[in-house]
Amino acid sequence: MYFTPRRYAFTPPPEADSVVVVGAGPVGLALALGLARRGVRVTVLEAGDSVCAGSRAICLSRHSLEVLERLGVGERFAELSLPWTSGRSYYRDTEVLSFDMPSGAGDAHPPMVNISQSVAEQVLVDAIEATDGCEVRWRCRVVDCTRHDDHAVLEVETPEGPVRVRGDWVVAADGARSTVREALGLRLDGTSYEGRYVIADIHWPAALPTERRVWFDPPSNPGSTIVLHRQPDDIWRVDYQLQPGADPEVETDEQRVRERIARHLDWLGDDRPWTLEWTSLYRAHALSLDSYRHGRVLFAGDAARLVPIFGVRGLNSGLEDADVLAWMLAAVVDGEAGPALLDVYATERRDAWCQNVAEAEKSTLFMTPGTRGYELTRDAVLALAGRRPALRELVNPRQSSATHSRTSPLTLPCDAPGLRPGDPVPDRVVRTSAGTSSLNSLRGRDFALLGFGVATAELGEAVSALAARTGVGVRGLTTGAGGDHPAVSAFDDVGGALAAEFGAGPGEVFAIRPDGLLFGRLPDFSGAADVADLIVTGGHR
Ligand SMILES: Cc1cc2nc3c(=O)[nH]c(=O)nc-3n(C[C@H](O)[C@H](O)[C@H](O)COP(=O)(O)OP(=O)(O)OC[C@H]3O[C@@H](n4cnc5c(N)ncnc54)[C@H](O)[C@@H]3O)c2cc1C
Repeated sequence: MYFTPRRYAFTPPPEADSVVVVGAGPVGLALALGLARRGVRVTVLEAGDSVCAGSRAICLSRHSLEVLERLGVGERFAELSLPWTSGRSYYRDTEVLSFDMPSGAGDAHPPMVNISQSVAEQVLVDAIEATDGCEVRWRCRVVDCTRHDDHAVLEVETPEGPVRVRGDWVVAADGARSTVREALGLRLDGTSYEGRYVIADIHWPAALPTERRVWFDPPSNPGSTIVLHRQPDDIWRVDYQLQPGADPEVETDEQRVRERIARHLDWLGDDRPWTLEWTSLYRAHALSLDSYRHGRVLFAGDAARLVPIFGVRGLNSGLEDADVLAWMLAAVVDGEAGPALLDVYATERRDAWCQNVAEAEKSTLFMTPGTRGYELTRDAVLALAGRRPALRELVNPRQSSATHSRTSPLTLPCDAPGLRPGDPVPDRVVRTSAGTSSLNSLRGRDFALLGFGVATAELGEAVSALAARTGVGVRGLTTGAGGDHPAVSAFDDVGGALAAEFGAGPGEVFAIRPDGLLFGRLPDFSGAADVADLIVTGGHR
C-alpha cells in the first residue's frame, strides 16, 4: 500500500490523568494536542496499534487548516497536501457544472486541500510524540465507562490484562461505534440513507488537474455516480455508488472493484497502468446524540454525531469539535472557567451538526437519491442544468465551510452590519513591520482583541485587564498606532479592506475566541468586562 503505517508497542497507561481521551482517530489526536499545547495533561487510549488505513476523509477545508495551524502542524500539512479550488460535474458525458470555491490573495489558506486521513493522523501522532504532557497508549481498548460526580472510570483491555484508568474528564472520541456511548446507554438519533458507495484509493500517474470531478450516470457505469479526487503522490480516490439491492460482499470483491474502476478510466481515455491500493464501503448517516456532555464525560467527532461525507463535513466538523473543546476544557481544568462552559460546548456543537446536516442533506439526496422519484427529479435537473444556469445551484456539491455559533450564550448581542457574533472570523493575510503574516498567526491560540484604528497602548491595557480578570491568555491586534505593548501586534489594513469586509467602524474592537469565532463587537473597552464574565461563567451572567 502507498502508506505503510508505523506499528506502536503497548506501554501501560497511567492509573489516572487530568483528561483521558478515548480513541486516537483524527479528532481525539487533535483534541489531545490542543489540550497539551495549553499545558493540560492528557492520555489517549487507542484500541489499535497504528493510525488508520486508507484515505477516508481526504478533503480538509480552509477552516480545518486554521485549526491545524493552531495546533502547530500547519506547515507539515501544507507540505504533504494538495490544494484545490474547483470542480466539475457531468451528466452522462456532458459537463453540467464547473465551480470555483472563493479564493483570493488575501486568504491565508486555500479553500480545500486533499490529504489521506492516514497521513493526517500520522502527522498528529508525530506532533504528540514531540509534545510534553500528552501520550498515546496503543493497544488499550476501552470496554466500559462509569460516571461519577467528579471523575469517570474506564475499564481497559490491554495485552497485559485488564486495567482501570480514571479521568477527571473523559472525552469519547472513539468513532461511529463508540463503546463509551454504548456504556453510558446513549444512542444516536436521526436519518440513515439507503445509498452505499464503494470507495477506493488507486495509484495512477494521470495528468488530470487537481479538482473534484463527479459523473452522474456515466456511460462507463450507467445508473451510478462516480467521484474522483486527486491526492498527493499520484494516488486518486474513486467513489462510486452501488445500485439499490446490490450485494455489498460481491461489490467489494477486489476483482469486481477493479473491473468497475477500469471501465471508467478506459472511458476517460487514459490507458496508463494503475494499481488498487485500498477499498472500503460507505453509507451516509445524519445521526447525533442529544447532548455531547454527560457530567464528566464529553463526546467529540463521530462518537458524538455522524454527517454524510458528501460536502466533506465528517472530519472537518470533528476538527471543529476538537478546536472548541480544547480551549473550553483547558479553561475548566485550569480553574479559569466553571464546568458550565462545557455545556456551551455541547450546545454549540449540536447546533453545528444541525447546520451541517441542513447543507449535507441536499448534497446527499443528490448523490444518493433514496427513491425512484428523487432519482427522476435529479436526472431531470441534471439534464437541464447544462442549458439553464439557475439549475446549476442544485448540482453544486456545497463543500464544507466553518459553522457559526450565533445562538450560543457565549456571544454579546450586536445588530451592526458585517460580521455577527458567533461568526467565524476569516483568517486574512496582513502586513506588519516585520513582513507578511496573517490574523491567526498574530493571534496564536489565545483570545484576541482586534482593534480597528485603536492605539496600541490603549488596546494593550484592555488586553492586560481581560487576561488578569479571566486568567486566560489574550493577544491584542490593531490597525492603529501609538505606543508599544508586548501583548499587542500592529498591522496595516491596506485601504481599510479588512474593516470594510468585517463591517468594523473606527475605534471598534472585536473580541475573538481561541477557536476563531467572534465573541462580540465592542464599541468601547467597557464591553471587555462582559467578555470576561461570559468566559468565567460559561455564558450564565
Ligand atoms: C470508510 C470511510 C470513508 C470515509 N470517507 C470520508 C470522506 O471521504 N470524507 C469525510 O469527510 N469523511 C469521511 N469519513 C468519515 C471520517 O473518516 C470520520 O468523520 C473521521 O474519521 C472521524 O474521526 P474520529 O476521530 O471522530 O473517529 P475515528 O476516525 O473513527 O477514530 C476513532 C478511533 O477510536 C478508536 N477506538 C474505537 N473504539 C475504541 C475503544 N473501545 N477503545 C479505544 N479506542 C477505540 C479507533 O480505533 C479509532 O482510532 C469516512 C469514514 C469511513 C469509515
